[in-house]
Amino acid sequence: MFSDRLKTISDNIQAATQRAGRGSLAPVQLVAVSKTHPPEALLDAVECGVTLFGENRVQEAKAKIPRLPSRCSWHFIGHLQKNKIRQALPLFELLHGVDSLSIAREIDRIAAELGLFPKILLEINVAGESTKFGFSPAQLTSDLDALLQLPRLQIEGLMTIPPPAPEPEHSRKYFITLRELRERLQREAGLLLPELSMGMSDDYAIAIEEGATLVRIGSALFGSRGAKKTWRPTGSDSLDD
Ligand SMILES: *Cc1c(COP(=O)(O)O)cnc(C)c1O
Repeated sequence: MFSDRLKTISDNIQAATQRAGRGSLAPVQLVAVSKTHPPEALLDAVECGVTLFGENRVQEAKAKIPRLPSRCSWHFIGHLQKNKIRQALPLFELLHGVDSLSIAREIDRIAAELGLFPKILLEINVAGESTKFGFSPAQLTSDLDALLQLPRLQIEGLMTIPPPAPEPEHSRKYFITLRELRERLQREAGLLLPELSMGMSDDYAIAIEEGATLVRIGSALFGSRGAKKTWRPTGSDSLDD
């Protein structure tokens, strides 16, 4: 049952928050990663009190959002394509995966046209994996001035997806890297970066111990996604994005 899984996760989040000695100062928000799951599954979640969802495809989110109560809020957690920015900006309260200067510039430009000030997180490729999107820490240092000059972007913090690992404990060093990078940017560039988006179904407790403020949890809440790629409304033949 969804409610049982939610209870377990909420208890784990609370326990990890206490272990980290964080009290109520830096609350952890659960982003329920609902990608691939149908609106009915999200409605179950809403009945249990979940209202913050994470989606990674613009078309899929656009079809689901009108089917959920308007008090729900939506975070985009994937790699955003340039040709989807215009559709995405009005839908999402926070974009977790801003992964290059060129996409940041494009978001800023379109936000100005739409009269918006989007909140974003910069995605950091902490392990330097060549297959992964994101700024390497060195790239971020060199792009930072240009990023800070984009008037529309509200940079709220950093996000990372560590490399796949056999043991959740292996992710800890990458979470520490992200936290230390945040601390360095705050110190050297005088930025305020309150949000750290890190931790998924297998390693969220460790991420919280290392300072996560947003944990993105999918399968531990909604069950396995199996081979499902997206949910589409019946009768829709729109292409994946
Ligand atoms: C799918 C996804 C998640 C959730 O993954 P689970 O292992 O199912 O919890 C978190 N973050 C991102 C960026 C994702 O794409």
